[in-house]
Amino acid sequence: LVKISKLSKFYGKKQVLHNINFSIPKNKVTVLLGPSGSGKSTLIRTLNGLEPFQAGAIEVFNQVIDSHTKNGWRDIRGKIGMVFQSYDLFPNMSVIKNVTLGPVKVQKRKVSEVLTAARALLKEVGLAEYENAYPRNLSGGQKQRVAIVRALILRPSLILFDEITASLDPEMVRGVLEILKKLADGKLTMVVVTHEMNFAQQIADQVVFLEEGKIVEIGGGQDFFDQPKTLRAQQFLESMS
Ligand code: ATP
Ligand code: MG
Repeated sequence: LVKISKLSKFYGKKQVLHNINFSIPKNKVTVLLGPSGSGKSTLIRTLNGLEPFQAGAIEVFNQVIDSHTKNGWRDIRGKIGMVFQSYDLFPNMSVIKNVTLGPVKVQKRKVSEVLTAARALLKEVGLAEYENAYPRNLSGGQKQRVAIVRALILRPSLILFDEITASLDPEMVRGVLEILKKLADGKLTMVVVTHEMNFAQQIADQVVFLEEGKIVEIGGGQDFFDQPKTLRAQQFLESMS
């Protein structure tokens, strides 16, 4: 679905991604792992056109984007969903408004269809009763679930999650991860950055392990955790357990 070739990125003179090559298979979960500062967020933002890059190319949905492509992301971005650590819901809008705004205003879908879809998704994440609540009255875990629904209702072909449980209280984490696990059941292409190793192990079809902006190891989900090939990956997994 996505092919990243020889991708390099700099912030000023500092190179933060070095010659990155990997593919994101359709309807699978790719987990990005690596120590803090290894470039996971930068990479995920680059995949969404939020960050320019200086060398290499990204092929998404059969369209090739390189560092010179102008406006290349315009048609693509609508097919890519993203959920961040900070859920940034609109504080002055109810849950249902937060969720339905994009599909109605941007995708020009019918209000009645969007409302039906929104209610079904809210129900699926356990928030059926909260459609008229405001973000300030929700827990962190609930807000993050609304943010997930807001991304899903746009029917993305690819969805990117960057440490979406990192700012949640421990007791909230599990509920959000359970939802992702349900989503990972084969009908959605996902890229997930997480520090939750048990969770990563449960959902990863593929693991991309980064360090200092370089790919150190790419492995099949279970293999990476059972038999990491590189010493660095072994050390990383040990430090996280
Ligand atoms: P973490 O696990 O802490 O979230 P990460 O793997 O997501 O880390 P990035 O946030 O992608 O790492 O950062 C990669 C490198 O790029 C780091 O050295 C960081 O300091 C640098 N960096 C990130 N954003 C910027 C920016 N806007 N300007 C300059 N340097 C940046
Ligand atoms: Mg990060």
